[in-house]
Amino acid sequence: MILLDGKMVSQKCMKGLKEKISNFTIRPSLSVIRVGEDQASEIYVNLKRKMCEELGINFTEHHLNANITQDELEGLIDQLNLDDNINAILLQSPIPSHLNVMQAFKKISPEKDVDGFCTMNVGKLVQGEDCFVACTPLGIMKLLDAYQVELSGKNAVVIGRSNIVGRPMAQLLLNADCTVTICHSKTQNLKEITKMADILIVAIGKPKLITADMVKEGAIVVDVGINRVAGSKKIYGDVDFEQVKDKCSYITPVPGGVGPMTIATLMNNIVIAYEKQHSKR
Ligand code: NAD
Repeated sequence: MILLDGKMVSQKCMKGLKEKISNFTIRPSLSVIRVGEDQASEIYVNLKRKMCEELGINFTEHHLNANITQDELEGLIDQLNLDDNINAILLQSPIPSHLNVMQAFKKISPEKDVDGFCTMNVGKLVQGEDCFVACTPLGIMKLLDAYQVELSGKNAVVIGRSNIVGRPMAQLLLNADCTVTICHSKTQNLKEITKMADILIVAIGKPKLITADMVKEGAIVVDVGINRVAGSKKIYGDVDFEQVKDKCSYITPVPGGVGPMTIATLMNNIVIAYEKQHSKR
């Protein structure tokens, strides 16, 4: 079994980005919008701030009151879209439930949408065109590529159909010539499907749901899950790592697998946004 070491691959990627940015005359810049007081969001935004600071990317945070209106939120997005000093915009989710997050994502200019969530970028991904792609699935593709994992013709099973992980993941694998099956909470006989997977991507959000009997011998297993269990400080994946690891050819650890690749991919997307915008000026 080979461990897909996202920490190591992401560090290499970050080193390359830092060198690249040091040659820019103007720094790239990211604006993050956070609404309300979601604790996990605060942690994620601070992590992004830290990474930006390390790489030399200007970081600004707009922390909005939880009872802001949709119009006010979209007004801020419009303002950032028009600001030539901002290369990348990110709306941290979740946002309070009275707001329509998909509607807000749609407002972000496709050229600044480094999360790849706006309709234009999602549509381009489906059509196999060059675009910004959601950082977690794209980071997984980069990790598989770093280990020269052959994808073409493989049976790939993605568990989870969220807009930020499952759906774009399935599309990327399809674009890489995999035969793709998407499973979700209403899927029947999950185990029968997962046992067919040469590549199994798990993005459910339930600790240790995937056990050894659900995995094909020699499979490549990617665990996206980040689960906190009451009474434990540890983070658990969706895959029972200890059980499954000896059956796999490759597997990601949690933590240290997909998580660091997500953040490195975000940083890479910011640099791409910057380069594209500056080449037009
Ligand atoms: P989500 O809640 O939006 O989606 C979960 C998906 O799992 C749904 O599509 C649902 O249908 C499916 N599902 C739920 N129970 C199931 C079951 N019993 N069998 C089969 N499918 C089932 O979650 P998400 O935003 O896609 O995130 C999934 C997990 O990945 C979470 O643990 C999240 O914290 C983690 N995550 C990690 C990163 C990272 O960088 N490592 C990034 C994003 C999300």
